[in-house]
Amino acid sequence: MGVINVLDKHVAELIAAGEVVERPASAIKELIENSIDAGADNITVEIQNGGITYMRVTDNGCGIMREDVKLAFLPHATSKIRLEDDLDSISTLGFRGEALSSISSVSRLQLLTRHKSEEIGTDYEINGGEEVSFSDAGCPVGTTIIVRDLFYNIPARMKFLKKDRAEGNAVANVIDKIALSHPEIAFTFIRDGRRVLTTSGDNKIKSAIYSVYGRDLANGMIPVSYELNGIKIRGYISKPVNARPNRSMQNFFINGRYVRSGTASAAVEEACKGSVMVGKYAACVLHIKLPYEAIDVNVHPAKIEVRFINERPIFDAVYHAVKSSLNKNDERKEITFDGKVRNDAIYAIRKPKPFVAAPSVFEKKPEPQAPVAEQVKKPIDPIAELDLGIIDQQESVLDVAVHSETPDPFEIYSKEAIKREQNINRIVEKKTEEKLLADIAPEKEEIEEIEEKDEIIEPKPLFERPKNKLILVGEAFNTYIIVEKNDKEIIIIDKHAAHERMIYEKLKKEKGAGFSQLLLRPVTVVLSKNDYEAAISNLDMFRECAFDVEDFGNGTLIVRSAPQYLDLNDIESSVIEMAGYIARNKTDIRSEKMDWIYHNIACRSAIKGGNISTKEELMDIANKLDDDPTLRYCPHGRPVCVVMSRYELEKQFGRIQ
Ligand code: ADP
Ligand code: MG
Repeated sequence: MGVINVLDKHVAELIAAGEVVERPASAIKELIENSIDAGADNITVEIQNGGITYMRVTDNGCGIMREDVKLAFLPHATSKIRLEDDLDSISTLGFRGEALSSISSVSRLQLLTRHKSEEIGTDYEINGGEEVSFSDAGCPVGTTIIVRDLFYNIPARMKFLKKDRAEGNAVANVIDKIALSHPEIAFTFIRDGRRVLTTSGDNKIKSAIYSVYGRDLANGMIPVSYELNGIKIRGYISKPVNARPNRSMQNFFINGRYVRSGTASAAVEEACKGSVMVGKYAACVLHIKLPYEAIDVNVHPAKIEVRFINERPIFDAVYHAVKSSLNKNDERKEITFDGKVRNDAIYAIRKPKPFVAAPSVFEKKPEPQAPVAEQVKKPIDPIAELDLGIIDQQESVLDVAVHSETPDPFEIYSKEAIKREQNINRIVEKKTEEKLLADIAPEKEEIEEIEEKDEIIEPKPLFERPKNKLILVGEAFNTYIIVEKNDKEIIIIDKHAAHERMIYEKLKKEKGAGFSQLLLRPVTVVLSKNDYEAAISNLDMFRECAFDVEDFGNGTLIVRSAPQYLDLNDIESSVIEMAGYIARNKTDIRSEKMDWIYHNIACRSAIKGGNISTKEELMDIANKLDDDPTLRYCPHGRPVCVVMSRYELEKQFGRIQ
């Protein structure tokens, strides 16, 4: 028995009316969706002249039963829904029963199909909605639809078509999206005789991305897999550094359907804030799976927009999915000598240790404010330090074992502390041998002090995580701060990027408070009428950016205080730029726009690469960066630091294998 029925008038009216076929791309979309609904896992699309003169869609789906063939071309004829209630849970891509009737009424269409339950196929031809022929055909199970001369009978429509190339590009775009939405289907797209896309159909989203966007983009993406309140998110998002200048590579698929979703877009952008530069957009291919009842696809005739019954859960799920992927993959980078940059594996096993500082070029004395545990372990002589380094290597192996058994950092710390003290004692004993006595004489007192104080503190439980200890090694090219941390690694910091990020965070968090500096002499800024008007009605926005700005009358502002670090010469141009920006974005100046301003101020205020900085400034940046592991990228999305482990260095110098 046939499965197609003509919808009753009421149901038909419930389906939002609309033109299905606007251009070749929309016809192709409908035809491919029919193939997908028919269960095909292999679909070939071919076009000539942008699809205007020829398009063909061939699938290996279930095919159409002979008795259904003619019905399929009637308006509102569908096998996919039957009753009004069915509209509430649409699981197929099509449901309106309009596509075949619409396309066949504006073209010369040929259908070749064989249903899986039938021996003989059908060849049906229909021109401008009029049947031309209906006959048997020997063909494999599945369906081929060939559409020739689209709009041949509506010249007015013809005129609206763009050049072949543009129409062909629109078709390609549709196929890209569909290929990304159905990685389980092998697609082939032939354009003017050339095969331009093939996807493997191996059900891996990454493979589809690879075919559609190419290797570089695919490799620059990180996986997303998340579930929140029954909403499943699966797919890929570009790494922050690979963000794009626009949203054209943001792809959202809801239950296998490509959609434009402001909610999902906003969630991605919110999650990327702080990692992706303002004005750039992460590329993404995100499959969102949710109960069919939760969405209403019957909104837009082309069904590109869907309406969620409730937007919030979608936003939350997408936001958390993206955020958690970025966080997972967002670790500070470790560099190795073979030129690779790898994710920070050593961070996973690293933990605070009692510190024995090595003397550095700049820091002869321990810091006065160092916690007690650090103060007692003052720098000892370089020979001892070297020995300790080697013992350290052995320890690090132990550390991993201890760590996996006992995740409590305090316990590890005390075990280590004991071990460390034993080591120190051993070394001290060694050093007290006569022939070395002379060399270490000046430090002897210190060593004894260590021993004494250790005895006092050791039995006490340690309640506080010892602060990481950084030692400034120097600065390269007046740009990269080099610090040594915990005797275990070297951190190389881009001073501008790091400082910029810190200022940006501070401005954002404190909305300018506490970041303003009174100017010795106020600065006046003359603005265009438009910018002036916008500025004086938004003076609070300047305040949020640490500027104290007042209306000075007659198109002039007076600036009494400005953000710290901001160069005097930059004050005027910053204010002009901000005023211009506010004027241009009058309607929606909050949140995202403020971000642009914070970003701008941070960039101008931050220490510049190439400029000379004091030791204190460099250490201040290094310490702040170390204190806040979330600072990983500058607002442009570039990394703020790279890490090289002592282990890696020692491996390179053959100290360890
Ligand atoms: P809809 O997809 O909204 O149901 P269409 O006009 O696109 O409406 O298609 C009408 C009917 O024709 C479908 O419901 C389906 O039963 C049948 N059909 C169309 N294309 C195919 C195909 N490629 N394979 C199998 N059946 C098809
Ligand atoms: Mg359809």
